[in-house]
Amino acid sequence: MGAPHQLAYIGLGSNLESPIEQVREALNELAMLPLSRLVAASSLYASRPVGPQDQPDFINAVAALETHLSPLALLDQLQALEQQHRRRRQRHWGPRTLDLDLLLYANAAIDTPRLRVPHPHMTARAFVLVPLAEIAPSTHLYQKPLSVWLEHINAQDSNHGLERLASLTIRA
Ligand code: ATP
Ligand code: CA
Ligand code: CA
Repeated sequence: MGAPHQLAYIGLGSNLESPIEQVREALNELAMLPLSRLVAASSLYASRPVGPQDQPDFINAVAALETHLSPLALLDQLQALEQQHRRRRQRHWGPRTLDLDLLLYANAAIDTPRLRVPHPHMTARAFVLVPLAEIAPSTHLYQKPLSVWLEHINAQDSNHGLERLASLTIRA
């Protein structure tokens, strides 16, 4: 038997022309990562971009992965997937195709130039907290339950521009 797996949460985002496809494809790719198992994926959410509104909405989701990869090895894998999607972006000159952020890795607190966990600013981002709450409602961040962070962002901006997408049509 090898070392026990760890539970990691990954935030996905895309605002390419077909961001839903990008995120769905990325979820499939996460499911195929080595030494890892995709154990949960949130619904997809549409979030309005921060700043100029004349660009496509983002599609966001959060995934849970059981993994034997170290945090840095996992980040390597996530960046390789981003790179694969970015190649397509270069062809189409489109906006950002795929962003994969390592949100949480077990109870690890990591603060290096290349990797910071928990992901910086995640406590202030509805497009991270809401999908995370869907798949991991009992998560604590900095000793506080997710619900407290959610109340906090709702109090600041109850209309934070996040919409859960109706269940997706699976094409035959
Ligand atoms: P934000 O991090 O605010 O969401 P971003 O996702 O647009 O912004 P990127 O350009 O995707 O930022 O990443 C910049 C760098 O962040 C990466 O090169 C990566 O090494 C570093 N990084 C630090 N911590 C993390 C993490 N937890 N997950 C992913 N990348 C991270
Ligand atoms: Ca990000
Ligand atoms: Ca990122």
